[in-house]
Amino acid sequence: MSFPRVGIVGLGLIGGSLAKLIREIFPDTHIVAVSRNQSACMQAIDEGVLSAADTDLRVLADRDLVFVATPIEMIVDTVKMLQMILSPSAIVTDVASVKRDIVAALSLSEANGLKGAEPLENLSHSSSAEPRKNEINNFKGFHPLNPIRNKALFIGGHPMAGKETTGYSGSEAKMFLGATYVLMPNEDPRRQVFEAYLKNLKFRVVTMSPEDHDQAVGLASHGPYVMACLTAGALLNSPYAQAGKQLISSGFRDTTRVACSPSEWGTSVCLDNSEAVLAFLETVSADIDTLATLIKAKDDVALKTYFETIAVHRRGLFPV
Ligand code: NAP
Repeated sequence: MSFPRVGIVGLGLIGGSLAKLIREIFPDTHIVAVSRNQSACMQAIDEGVLSAADTDLRVLADRDLVFVATPIEMIVDTVKMLQMILSPSAIVTDVASVKRDIVAALSLSEANGLKGAEPLENLSHSSSAEPRKNEINNFKGFHPLNPIRNKALFIGGHPMAGKETTGYSGSEAKMFLGATYVLMPNEDPRRQVFEAYLKNLKFRVVTMSPEDHDQAVGLASHGPYVMACLTAGALLNSPYAQAGKQLISSGFRDTTRVACSPSEWGTSVCLDNSEAVLAFLETVSADIDTLATLIKAKDDVALKTYFETIAVHRRGLFPV
């Protein structure tokens, strides 16, 4: 199962990595990116990753499948605009790290028609970058499909892979090697087709409701990010920081690695997934109190039992 004409909006870390993965597994795919970053687009075209690029979303009108890989707060408006442009048979999906509000906003827009979408004159993906003329169609005279009765299917998704850099320069297909891809449920049969496509791209597909996804990702990703920041911050703010820096090794590096994630991403997931992140912090805070009580009481038996329980649990998460 493959899609011959794929579109990608936002040629950053995730958008670029998806383009590279698709090019690697389905080399004949015609891949068009909508991006403000001219140099990244030129590089991707020169590398053979992209077939073409533009700054105008209307260039994606003939796509079978479009991934929206912009920052979280831009996803809803971008999907709404795409639904005015794409064929009703097409699929538009997002990759955002938080799902509940996005899926709810787009379901609401489904119920209300496309109220609130940007006017079509405003479809440029805002840029100072001039696209390469020989790669571009301007789509003058384009007329939208009826936005209420005919529109592309939106399926929420989230590839569970990333790294501590942003932008196309850090993108790589192998980042997704063996990765899980969370897909929201949908009764439309195209959902199964898209799932089969993701499996062909070698993702391990997990179906989850947007609400369960946000709670689960709070435990699996957003909470651990906050803990990594707290751990790194404890060293930064300590009177023994200089001495501590001389002693840090692989343990400190492993437990704080994700603290290097872009601060925009961290801020965005903490605010957009605040319920789950706050629940995580409350749980951890209660556990810290319990642990502190055990340490103050010099309760070696309870401490050993606690640490052993966690070690068994942790080993089970990543069996060798
Ligand atoms: P990124 O490398 O910064 O890429 C985001 C892209 O969005 C930028 O390259 C840019 O594309 C576009 N963009 C940024 N600001 C924009 C603006 N104001 N107007 C229009 N376009 C704008 O970030 P990323 O890590 O790929 O994240 C993209 C999405 O993936 C986010 O929704 C994030 O939640 C999700 N995600 C991230 C990770 C991760 O670990 N990083 C993992 C899974 C999912 P152009 O320059 O091409 O226009």
